[in-house]
Amino acid sequence: MSTGNWPSLPVLPDAATDAVVDSGLLPELAHAFGGPFHFLLPDAFTANLRDMRETLNAAGVDGFVFYAKKANKAAVFVERAAAHGAGVDVASASELREALGHGVRGEHLVVTGPAKDPVLLRLAVTHRALIAVDALDELDAVITTALAGPVRPARILLRVLPAAQPHSRFGLTDGELAAALGRCVEAGAALRMEGFSFHLSGYALQPRADLAARLTELCRKARVSGLEASSVSIGGGLPVSYTDADSWHGFLTAQRPAHYHAGKSFGRGDFYPYHSPLSGASALAALLETRPMGGDGSLARSLADAGVKLLLEPGRALLDRAGATVFTVQGVKDRDGYQLLTVDGTSLSLSEQWFNSEYVPDPLLIPRGPVTPAGVFPASVGAATCLESDMLTWRKIAFRHQPRTGDLLLYPNTAGYQMDSNESPFHDLPLPPKVVIDHTDRPRPRWRLDRHFT
Ligand SMILES: *Cc1c(COP(=O)(O)O)cnc(C)c1O
Repeated sequence: MSTGNWPSLPVLPDAATDAVVDSGLLPELAHAFGGPFHFLLPDAFTANLRDMRETLNAAGVDGFVFYAKKANKAAVFVERAAAHGAGVDVASASELREALGHGVRGEHLVVTGPAKDPVLLRLAVTHRALIAVDALDELDAVITTALAGPVRPARILLRVLPAAQPHSRFGLTDGELAAALGRCVEAGAALRMEGFSFHLSGYALQPRADLAARLTELCRKARVSGLEASSVSIGGGLPVSYTDADSWHGFLTAQRPAHYHAGKSFGRGDFYPYHSPLSGASALAALLETRPMGGDGSLARSLADAGVKLLLEPGRALLDRAGATVFTVQGVKDRDGYQLLTVDGTSLSLSEQWFNSEYVPDPLLIPRGPVTPAGVFPASVGAATCLESDMLTWRKIAFRHQPRTGDLLLYPNTAGYQMDSNESPFHDLPLPPKVVIDHTDRPRPRWRLDRHFT
């Protein structure tokens, strides 16, 4: 379907989202909540987890998946991780409590983040969680905590500062790493040094393979000093593909300030890479097949040869297709050649404005009544707030029907980071509730509130 000259970015088809739309449930929920809401499709999470595990098995790699909880606050994904024996990556005492409370075993937690507070460290040590140590003073704090408490040893990984990202504020430098290894040996029975970790920004595979292989070698060396050094965590960063290659490249080539409200401009680099040739489990497969620099076999081979377990902490990739966000159109006004829609929520419920960017995948217009004749109706989407800059979509979206007050606007595939990372009750607007959809073996999906919906 042509959208005239307006760039568009259709999402990849998703049967589960379509089934919810077709069921007619969304207008009822919009009516019930009287504001925006998110719906969650936890079966997608379970399927993504299964695919990653199958990929590890197929590559002959001993691996363990931790779901990076910061990507979504809902309880249901943690419950799914618990039900399927996966771990959870937490970075605060509240996240740790949430994970334990929803059934994840303490030893299946990995605690990341810098300079962890004493309460978090105590909980982590007591519940035998794996702690990714980010600094020398933190290592000392972990040892002190273990010696003072009832549970020993404290299980740790040493997080390294990647040579490829020397300006990262996370991780230990080479010098600090050497000192840390010495302290781990001295700490004796207070500590179990289980290996190394890193987390890289960006989505390139080669630097991940290189660093994972380097840390695999470091495991071998550390074992010589009597440390366990059995695991390497490669952090998160498995990409998600929201759209097909042609749409993405076409969009990037075509988009210019005239396509945005107020002539706003975004450069290519401002956007998340909405298309990736490899994503999720297939990106993991490719990573395992990648030959690390200077090596003579695949990463999978290096890991297996060294008897090193691969830990991963995917957030976004586990949440691919696991939910969407629904707003109601509250007003429509005309501008020169396009319209401004105002919806009943804020851009904080789409989060991407945090990164001076916007969430580009096309929202779906769900008309409230009989549709108007088909055509091309460009419109940008603003929030129900008093801030000039609070736009959900600066881009003029080429709708195929005239949007009207009371129509719904569904932003697809928002579970990974888009939903709630920077939601706020600005203007005293309530935070959008989260609805868990269940459509196993039933003609019409049923729903419940997520137990933790803020
Ligand atoms: C954010 C984060 C992750 C998750 O990253 P994704 O890109 O969502 O996969 C994993 N590990 C650490 C240490 C992180 O900070």
